[in-house]
Parts: sequence; C-alpha cells; structure tokens
Amino acid sequence: MPRQLFVTTALPYANAPFHIGHMMEYIQADIWVRHQRMAGNVVHFVCADDAHGAPIMIAAEKAGKTPQQFVVDIAAGRKQYLDGFHIGFDNWHSTDGAENHELAQQIYRDLKTNDLIETKTIEQFFDPEKQMFLPDRFIKGECPKCGAKDQYGDNCEVCGAVYAATELKDPYSALSGVTPVLRNSEHYFFKLSDPRCLAFLDQWTQEEGHLQTEVYNKIKEWLTPNDDGVRDLGDWDISRDAPYFGIEIPDAPGKYFYVWLDAPIGYLASLKNYLGKIGIDYHAFMADPATEQYHFIGKDIITFHTLFWPAMLHFSGRKTPNAVFVHGHLTVNNEKMSKSRGTGIDPLKYLNIGMNPEWLRYYIAAKLNSRNEDLDFVGQDFMQRVNSDLVGKFINIASRSAGFLSKRFSGKLGVTSPDGAGLLDILRAKADELQQHYEGRDYGRALREIMLLADRVNEYVDQNKPWELAKQDGMDARLHDVCTVCIEAFRLLTLYLKPVLPTLAAQVESFLNIAAMQWPDATRSLGLGHTIGDYKHLMQRVDSKQIEALFELQADAKVTAAVGTEHSRVESGLPGGEAIAPTITIDDFTRIDLRIAKIVRCEKVEGSTKLLRLTLDVGEGNDADGNAITRNVFSGIASSYQPEQLTGQLTVLVANLAPRKMKFGISQGMVLAASAADEKSLPGIYLLNPGPGAIPGMRVR
Ligand SMILES: [Zn+2]
Repeated sequence: MPRQLFVTTALPYANAPFHIGHMMEYIQADIWVRHQRMAGNVVHFVCADDAHGAPIMIAAEKAGKTPQQFVVDIAAGRKQYLDGFHIGFDNWHSTDGAENHELAQQIYRDLKTNDLIETKTIEQFFDPEKQMFLPDRFIKGECPKCGAKDQYGDNCEVCGAVYAATELKDPYSALSGVTPVLRNSEHYFFKLSDPRCLAFLDQWTQEEGHLQTEVYNKIKEWLTPNDDGVRDLGDWDISRDAPYFGIEIPDAPGKYFYVWLDAPIGYLASLKNYLGKIGIDYHAFMADPATEQYHFIGKDIITFHTLFWPAMLHFSGRKTPNAVFVHGHLTVNNEKMSKSRGTGIDPLKYLNIGMNPEWLRYYIAAKLNSRNEDLDFVGQDFMQRVNSDLVGKFINIASRSAGFLSKRFSGKLGVTSPDGAGLLDILRAKADELQQHYEGRDYGRALREIMLLADRVNEYVDQNKPWELAKQDGMDARLHDVCTVCIEAFRLLTLYLKPVLPTLAAQVESFLNIAAMQWPDATRSLGLGHTIGDYKHLMQRVDSKQIEALFELQADAKVTAAVGTEHSRVESGLPGGEAIAPTITIDDFTRIDLRIAKIVRCEKVEGSTKLLRLTLDVGEGNDADGNAITRNVFSGIASSYQPEQLTGQLTVLVANLAPRKMKFGISQGMVLAASAADEKSLPGIYLLNPGPGAIPGMRVR
C-alpha cells in the first residue's frame, strides 16, 4: 500500500524575498518528497506566505500599500526562486487566505469548548510617542534567559527562549527608540499549563519518531519541573490589540490572533486550498488514520512547532504531526572569508550569473544529515565537490562510453560479460540502503555511498579503457560489452541521485530513451538491444570566476556604475557629474583626520530606509572595563548595502568630525563613500575600502 503524506516546510514571513537559508530548507524537503514519490507514495507538498503580524502592517504602511497588497507583491516574487531551484511545492498559499481565517477561528472555538482558553488582564508595553501597544517584534532588549542584547520581545534568536516582552531587560521601542510604558489590556491565553496539556506534551514529545533526540533534549527543559515543582511552560498569550494585521478573534472586538497562532494553521489552510483544487475532501483526508503529516523547520522555531502546535491540534480534536524535522542554520564561508568578501549568498544572483541550481542542491544535500546541525557553505569546497564528484566521477561515466555506442553500435546495447554483470549487481544491491538514507534524511551519507559506487565504476572503466579497445582490431565485442555496462551503471547512479538532481535525471531519461525512473527500476535493466539516444554534455564544471562573482560585493551595482560613468561623461563632460571643488592647501587637508576603521557591526536602523548603523573599531584601545572602545556612526548607505555585507570590512572614517545628534542617536564621525552628483541618473553608493593589510587606527594621509 502506498503511503499518504502531507509535507510542509516552515512558512516564510512575507516581509522580504527569500535568502539562501530558505532555499536550503526547501531543498531538504523537496529531496525527501521526491524520494517518497519515487517509492510510489502519494505526497501533498504545500507551503504559504506567513502574511500577518505587526511587522508586515508597519512595512506595508511605509511602502504606502495595504498589508494585503504588500503580501501579494511579495508572493509574486516567490516563483522565480522556487522554479529556479526546482522546488516542487504542489501549492503556495497565504495565511491571509479564507481557509486560514476559517480554520484559525474554528480551532480557537474548539480549544475554548475544551476549556483551554482564558482571558487575563496584563500589563503591556505601550509606545507613548506612537500611541500604540507595541508588538513584540517592535520591542527590543536583553534576553531574560541568556542576556543576549537587542533581542525581540517574544523570542530570543540566540538561545531560542520564548518569553513575554515585559520580561526583557532594558526594553526600548524599536519604532521610536523611547522607553515604553506599561498599560493594561485584556489578553486571551491558551492554557498550556493545564495539567492535560502538560501530560499530553510530556508524552507526545517523547514518543518514538516525533522529534530528533537533540531536539527533545532542547525542549524538555520547558516541560521538566524545577526543584520547586514549577515548569517553564506557561500559558501562551495568543491575542493582540488593534491595530493589527491578522485574523479577528471570534466574539472579541478589537482583538486579533497573534501571528504565531495562525501561522502553523496555514499548513492546513494551504493543504485545504490545494485539495479543493484537485477534488479531494480535506476533512476526509485529515480524518484518515493513514495520513502522515510532516513539517520541516529550522532550529529557531522549535518551541512553536514542538509544543504549541501539537497541543493546539490535539486539544482541538485534530491530528498531530507524525514528525517535526529540525535542521540547523546555513552559514556561508568560514569567518576569514566572510570578513573580506561579505557573507550570504543571494539565491537570485546565483541563478542570474548562470550557476546550475543542481550544483547547489547537490552540495547542500552532501552536507545534510538527519540531525539539527549547522552547515557551512564554503566556496572552494562547493567547487571542489561539484567538479570532482558530480562531473569528474559521475557525468564522466556517460561521456566516456556513450559516444562509442552511438558511433559503432547504432546506440544499441550489447551483451554483458560476468565481470560487468558483477559490478552492476554491486550497484543494484545498494538500492535499499540508499532509500533508507533518503528516508532518514541522511542525504550526506547517501551521496557518499553513491560516489563510492561511482569510484568502482570508474575503476572498471580505467581497467578496460574503452578508448583503447576502440583502436584495437577484433575487440568490438568487448568494447560493446564495456560500454553497455557503463551505460547501465550510469542509469543506476542517475536513479540514485534523482531526488537531488531531478532535472539532470530527466535529461538522462530522455538520452536513454526511458520512462521516468522510480525506485523499483533499480532491479531492472535496459536490456540487450535497447537503443539510447545521442549523448549531449550533461553538466558543466563550476568555474572559479563564478564563485568570485557570487561573493563579489555589489557586483551588479559595479557593472551599472561602469556603464553609467561612460554615459555620464558623454553627457556632461564632468567627472562623476560635477566639477572639481576649489583648490585647497595641504594644511587644509591635514585638518581632516582620516582613519582606517573596522566595521565590527552593521545594522539596519528601524524607522529609516536610508541609514545603516555602524559600530566601528578605530584602534582606540579598551575602556576601564576592558571592552574595546567603539564608535557609533550612522551612514546613509542603506540603499546600496545589506548590513551583513559590511560586517568585518575595513573603511575610512573622518575621525575628528564634531559628533552629531540625530533622530536615532549620536553619530561619532562619518565614513567615506563615493556616489555620482545625480543619484537618479547614476545610482549606487560605494563605501571606500583600503587595500589589504591596513589596520584600524592607521591614518590616511
Ligand atoms: Zn537568549
């Protein structure tokens, strides 16, 4: 009997385009789904934009759009990423869809009927300048658990703790910068501290298969009573006051569901929306005990998915997940490289500079295992693995044998000798084990095993040297035999790699003149007399220039600027669009103290689209407490740089400029950047970078 699965990734928040971390999660889930389908299982693989919450409401207001329009515009940009990396979701929906409104309200009513909803009057932070209750994401302060600075009011991104905003130390409003005041408001709570919930979660989180061991170890602290018999898991505040972009709480005017209540319900809403399109009854599907439900998520949202979500489902009389699969975060390059070249990979840039999406799928798969562990993207490692494994070991098997079959044997496969048949048996014998590795999300192990098989095939090729057989008289039959073995081996290896490389597999299926391969095809063979098509080169090597281009800061802007400069020169005859300033003496110049500064931190400035906040080390030593003395500088370069691009970079600071009080704080100096006189006709701002070897504090003369 084929299994019947419902699979999701986490819903991305609809306030920004995808980053490389999203693509990693989608690739992980997509490989798993493709593996399931190759095993004959029925999978519904859905996702949606997480559309609600104050951050989107506020971002939409800034952009001059309704939140609904803002979310629709973000959603319109999703397809190019998903198609680009061959992510095969069956449906993409929105948590603002009608299904989600209906499901969220129904789940709430069910919890209320079950006596698990109560109201409490709580003190909440209110921004006296903005005249509104501050959403959690707009209060920042120190994490009450680990002490990390600048954490949001609901959840610490450093230690993963979930807490009330009022528990933050030294809170401030991220909207206005002022210290918020406490005001009373009536809030709705899901009674997670109810003994029924605790008993259920104790059991569910420990039941075989629901959670990875390391994930259970992380969340059990919420469930385990301390020495005083108290557990960390308290009741969960699920309401927010108007103004809020979200779903109204039934019979509670002016109250909305907190975005984290309706976001996971969006999994069900997207499924319901999809099943409606393909004519399957949603309620019957979810009521079927055979239906399996799986969520792929990142480690930063474990608490929501392993405690709140199963409890919401269970106590509203719904099916709970069969498993929540947690992955670590993707980091890019080791620290040394990220400092000189910036961090992060823009997935669209990856595609736009002509890099093959299946290289990334392969590389990510090769580094993934079943555990909640971070993985690192390293440019050189990426290039080496793709070139040596994928092209050198795998693709070469076909390129070294297919031509002879076409030219000498009309593309027809021949008879296989016992030595070749023995090799193919070894390959076939691995099929079950490889399926288990895919099933267990141990993709790295699967790919290592597949490459070991490819090594054995290459040994066979090197022993038999088809290119020499082709030159020898009377060796036609052996050449035919060897090339036949190679093509059959190549088919098997392609089958084994198919969950990771779906497009390449489709090209191979077309080249081999065969139907789409499934796992059971591992036990079959192409057979004597089967005719293959002409071999066309299947995959290029990664070029080191592509890796350089991928990590080059503002590469696109530089191209624009170069073209634009040419244009501007023709038009005005003035350098950069403006005349050289009046002459000064060397003494005038030396009054300006320019120093090399290291950008130790760079952040967006809430409430400003132009400014970035830079924390600079100018070599000014340590303060009395032994902390490095740094300077705070606001710079109007946000249109050209993402904060993560600048962290760790060196630049030039006007170090003796009088401090300037700005709306967001005091700016202690100014960093140097180039721009054209008319930024409209020639956009782009370029921060100055000293040559290699410069040290913070050195004077520029
Ligand atoms: Zn923390």
